[in-house]
Amino acid sequence: MRHKIVAGNWKMHNDSKETKTLIKGVRKSIKKLSLKNTRVIVAPTFVNLTAGLKKAKKSKVEVIAQNMHQAKSGAFTGEVSASMLKSIGIQTVILGHSERRTLFGETDVILAEKVNAALESGLEIIFCFGELLEDRKSENHFTVVENQLKNALFHLEPIAWVNIVLAYEPVWAIGTGETATPEQAQEMHAFIRDVLAKKYNTVVAENTSILYGGSVKPNNAQEIFSKKDVDGGLIGGASLKVEDFTEIIKAI
Ligand code: PEP
Repeated sequence: MRHKIVAGNWKMHNDSKETKTLIKGVRKSIKKLSLKNTRVIVAPTFVNLTAGLKKAKKSKVEVIAQNMHQAKSGAFTGEVSASMLKSIGIQTVILGHSERRTLFGETDVILAEKVNAALESGLEIIFCFGELLEDRKSENHFTVVENQLKNALFHLEPIAWVNIVLAYEPVWAIGTGETATPEQAQEMHAFIRDVLAKKYNTVVAENTSILYGGSVKPNNAQEIFSKKDVDGGLIGGASLKVEDFTEIIKAI
C-alpha cells in the first residue's frame, strides 16, 4: 500500500547508548504529530537493532535493518540472514544502497538474490537505486535507473510489490549536500511509475511508495515532498539529529 514515509538511514553511526537516545528523542518529538498514513522509520546498525526495537516499542517509530546476506545460512563470516532479522522482530530491510553497491561490490545479480531471500522470509524491502553523476551528465540516467529496476526486481510477480518500497537516490546527491531539484526528483519518480505501469500495471505503479534520497534537509524537504510522485524520503545525515529529522517528518 502506498504510504508517506520518512526513513532515517543511520549507516555506521551511533553506539548502543546513542541509538537509544536518538530513538527516544524521535518518538517523543513525533508523539503529538498527526501522522495519518505516514510511516516513520529508522535503520540502526545490526548490533543496535534489538536495543532499537525495544526503545521504539509501542510507538510510531519502526526499526529496520540496513542490509542482509542473500544466503539462508552458511559459512559467511560477519554476515546476517533474512531469517535472523525476522527472528529478532525486524520487518523491513534496506537493500541496494549505493554504498553497498560501490564499497561492497553489490551487483544487480546479487541484489536480485537478496530481494528473493528477503521476500521469502517475509521481509518488506526498501530498495535503493539511482544513477551516478556521469550517467546524468551523459543523459543516461533514465536508462540506468530502468536497468537497475529491471535487473533486480522485474522477475517478481505483481503481488510481490506489496512488500517493495522504492528509494530513488541519485548517487551524486548522497552525502554531498547537492540535492536533486524538486523538478528532477518528480521527473524521475514519474518515469519510474511509468516503467512500473508498463512492466506490470497501473495498480502496481500507483500503489508503490517511491522515496527520494540525497541530501534531504529541513530546508528543502517540504518542496521535494510536495511533488506528486514523491512519497517521502530516505534520509542520511539529517536523520542523525532529532531536531532535523523531526522537521523533515513535519514536512511530510
Ligand atoms: C543516504 O545515505 O541514503 C542518504 C540519502 O544520505 P544523505 O541524506 O546524507 O545524502
